[in-house]
Amino acid sequence: MDRSQGRIARPNAEAGAATETFTGNRGLQLEEKLIFEQDSPGRTGVDLPPAPKVKSRLGGLERGSAVGLPGLSEPQVVQHYTRLSQKNYAIDSGVYPLGSCTMKHNPRLNEKMARLPGFGDVHPLQPQSTVQGALELIDSLAHWLKTLTGMPAVALSPAAGAHGELCGMVAIRVALEARGEADKRLRVLVPESAHGTNPATAAVLGFKVESIPANAEGRVDLAAMKAALGPDVAAIMLTNPNTCGLFERDIREVADAVHAAGAYFYCDGANFNAIVGRVRPGDLGIDCMHINLHKTFSTPHGGGGPGSGPVVLSAALAPYAPYPWTVKEGEKFRAIEAGSVGDGKPFGRLKAFHGQMGMFVRALSYMLSHGSDGLWQVASDAVLNANYVLARLKDVMSPAFPGACMHEALFDDEFLKGTGVTTLDFAKAMIDEGYHPMTMYFPLVVHGALLIEPTETQAKADLDQFVDALRHLAQKAKSGTAAAEFQAAPVLAPRRRLDETLAARKPVLRWKPPPPTAQAAE
Ligand SMILES: *Cc1c(COP(=O)(O)O)cnc(C)c1O
Repeated sequence: MDRSQGRIARPNAEAGAATETFTGNRGLQLEEKLIFEQDSPGRTGVDLPPAPKVKSRLGGLERGSAVGLPGLSEPQVVQHYTRLSQKNYAIDSGVYPLGSCTMKHNPRLNEKMARLPGFGDVHPLQPQSTVQGALELIDSLAHWLKTLTGMPAVALSPAAGAHGELCGMVAIRVALEARGEADKRLRVLVPESAHGTNPATAAVLGFKVESIPANAEGRVDLAAMKAALGPDVAAIMLTNPNTCGLFERDIREVADAVHAAGAYFYCDGANFNAIVGRVRPGDLGIDCMHINLHKTFSTPHGGGGPGSGPVVLSAALAPYAPYPWTVKEGEKFRAIEAGSVGDGKPFGRLKAFHGQMGMFVRALSYMLSHGSDGLWQVASDAVLNANYVLARLKDVMSPAFPGACMHEALFDDEFLKGTGVTTLDFAKAMIDEGYHPMTMYFPLVVHGALLIEPTETQAKADLDQFVDALRHLAQKAKSGTAAAEFQAAPVLAPRRRLDETLAARKPVLRWKPPPPTAQAAE
């Protein structure tokens, strides 16, 4: 392949050197001031006639000072926000390899459906007789989730994966209370490779978190897990496929051992994309699992939301599912918001109203447009793509574990040893190549981890370009002569390396006008 056309030398004022990128990426980024700093007092996007002089009836409550809005014309506002949006790498910009996040394409059809007035404009306090279609949609989504997971019940209200974990673990605690064992079962087992939300959820509920080591194959150490079980264990929280991108082969044995010890099995289902349509978690013996609709079933995420984290529940936990849920009575749908049905003992409510309606519409739209065979294909292609990335990179980067992977390819920093380049430097250099970095330094069980999840929605040509860029960087790092260049990266981004610790510890969230400059000093 002739890459000469992709090589573009670009003057880099700061470094005083030419920056050559492999992909030909170049920065096209103006320095953007805050909108308040662009204020030109009196300028507006509209011309209003002068306000007529009327006697104020506000009794002294009228504003005495300016509102403090910046003065800009309409094109200035449009350009400001468009430029800001272009500083943001997005799922619509290119490969978004962030592992554990399932950053897949969001079909535009989902958006069209979510904006239908009957879905987009309903109010949660409308009488149920006027939102029968919305309730039917919620009911259909519940049916799909129960069918795909092989579980008898689902709680739809949790607003994200972590909220779903809270829902499932509260259900477990309430079930333990019903057995009179809540006081003595206070330990929760969490494998080392778990997402940080798992131990956090258990800790928030007052459980004592106990870490279970991984074995040399990146899977939970079964013997250590069994040894940790006992009459004081409430639950295990296990992710499958796990955060090393591997299927927990012993999952049935885990479930049997956990149940034999009288504990419950929470499965983190954030990685459901790798097995959707192919494996029913209910067949694996789990008691509850959250599903990130915003990962497996598309729906936009990143940048803080919105999300949706329904939880499917086994027969043992179903009676404790929180309000609300829908039932079909004759031809009508009804949302159950109070009281109990059958032997149900709902633990209460997790969230106002019914859950993330817009996400429900997008997820069901995604399911219906793929069909059950299409979802099977989603899982197959996601796993195929990840294995393709793994196979094409394994001679220049160092796979963390031998063998094939599921939906994500995990590398450690062994290939960078002795080069002076760290995982962080490598990730920053990817930005200059025009890519959002993969997940770094997670999972913690792998030294200097680099976790790549291509998802099923990337075309082979795009994966090839991405892989070629990574191969180029890996070889450049190994040449031993480019450490300084890696350490200086990124040079093409609007900002270079930031003090991320300071930014997290002391965020500056408010703009304050500069002190008024003294009027023309005499
Ligand atoms: C994303 C993720 C979560 C948390 O989900 P949120 O929707 O971000 O709260 C939990 N576990 C794993 C493995 C994840 O990838």
